[in-house]
Amino acid sequence: MQEWIMRRSRADSFRNAMQEWTVTDEAAPAGVICICGNNFHGDLFVIRNGREFGFVGSICVNKFRRTDDVRQVIVSLLNVQHDNSSSLSPASLNYLFFLGGGWLNLWEWNFATCIARYSFDELSELQQLKRIQINDKLCNVFALNSNVLQ
Ligand SMILES: [Zn+2]
Repeated sequence: MQEWIMRRSRADSFRNAMQEWTVTDEAAPAGVICICGNNFHGDLFVIRNGREFGFVGSICVNKFRRTDDVRQVIVSLLNVQHDNSSSLSPASLNYLFFLGGGWLNLWEWNFATCIARYSFDELSELQQLKRIQINDKLCNVFALNSNVLQ
């Protein structure tokens, strides 16, 4: 997916390139597959960047939807501070990833987004460990940078 996006975007970093894309409310035609190469996840959505467009499945679409509501992000961070086994919403994870400044690196963002919809009990031991590590890191950055989110 990363390569697909970079080839069709102006920005030279993936983080910035992702921000050129928006999810539209157009219906995707039948028989197309997600830009990640998978075709096993139900509904497909159309993403656009100027004249470029592509299709994403119901999982990958989460990487393109972000909130612009900073209060929602802060509430998510406070929730994770209270319970580090819970997950930020994909929209809040995207907000922090695109914000840059050490909140989430590419791997952490990819991972956290992919497992966001699972409860802690549904995760493997390793996934549980990683979720907690990422949440603890976010809480640390939040403590140091809460002024950035105002
Ligand atoms: Zn996909």
